[in-house]
Amino acid sequence: MEIKKVGVIGCGLMGSGIAQTAATAGFDVVVLEAEQRFLDKGFAGIGKSLAKFAEKGTIKETPESVRARIKGTLKVEDLAASDIVIEAIIENVEEKKKMFARLDQVVQREAIFATNTSSVSVTEVMTATTRVDRFIGMHFFNPVPLMKLVEVIRTIATDAKVMDTAIAFAEKLGKVPVRTSDKTGFIVNRLLVPYLLDAVRAYEEGVGSISDIDLAMKFGCGYPMGPFVLSDFIGLDTIYYITHVMFDEFKERRFAAPALLRRMVLAGWYGKKSGKGFYDWSNPEKPVPQDEALRGEPAKAQGA
Ligand code: NAD
Repeated sequence: MEIKKVGVIGCGLMGSGIAQTAATAGFDVVVLEAEQRFLDKGFAGIGKSLAKFAEKGTIKETPESVRARIKGTLKVEDLAASDIVIEAIIENVEEKKKMFARLDQVVQREAIFATNTSSVSVTEVMTATTRVDRFIGMHFFNPVPLMKLVEVIRTIATDAKVMDTAIAFAEKLGKVPVRTSDKTGFIVNRLLVPYLLDAVRAYEEGVGSISDIDLAMKFGCGYPMGPFVLSDFIGLDTIYYITHVMFDEFKERRFAAPALLRRMVLAGWYGKKSGKGFYDWSNPEKPVPQDEALRGEPAKAQGA
């Protein structure tokens, strides 16, 4: 089956990025939102992002001609002719199931349904539909127009041809798709989350300071940034939430939140977005490590 028409549910951070990426790749896109103001906000973000790409010369068309392929709507019926529908609404299993149950009644039978969930079970969301063989996860990364990876997730009920179609579609989007199965965390978070939590444990045990651990992983492993800068970027509240879902699935200590992470989240130290995490981000160009507050040690003013 060939995908021509793309439906996107939600025009937030991820949905707007998915819509923009699909339109840039030449697909006709319909984006569904709950309210006009969210649609307006999403489209404003798409406009800004396309303008930046045009400025850098990385898109072949004008922003206006890419934008013309995206239609915003508040009516689910406008998704009826989609060949694939990618859902990117809030991370709430009941809301996602409600949405897919409705889509199941409206969208043509041959269409593929994909959820962009980070942590909810794809299989559980799938149960809200009658097309379990055509249901997958497509996990994009933020910011979608820039990040190359898409984890394409099969459940035990997914038809192999549906996986092949989704992989080919992701390639047409200019992405690098990887195949994975419906286990919490998929590939990236399964490996990344224990690593980030281990960095916190190493810090708690006095293995090194915040900036020394970051510098060690950056220059010793060639990672673009150390685990604490990365955690501050992702958001400690988000990591904390994911640890719960992963610990619940695997019941292993490596997925459990270290005490320090819990304390930081309780105190509202979420990382860059709240201004403070492992670093103070008052000056984003020069984040200051928070050893003194977190471990009672003088801060070392080394770079992040
Ligand atoms: P967001 O809050 O920025 O966007 C969600 C959008 O969905 C909002 O604009 C909201 O109005 C809309 N929405 C909610 N209910 C709706 C409904 N019933 N009908 C239509 N629209 C509705 O959230 P986000 O960060 O874009 O995340 C969306 C999904 O993508 C979540 O499942 C999240 O876990 C997943 N995800 C997020 C990231 C990330 O880095 N933010 C990365 C990968 C996956």
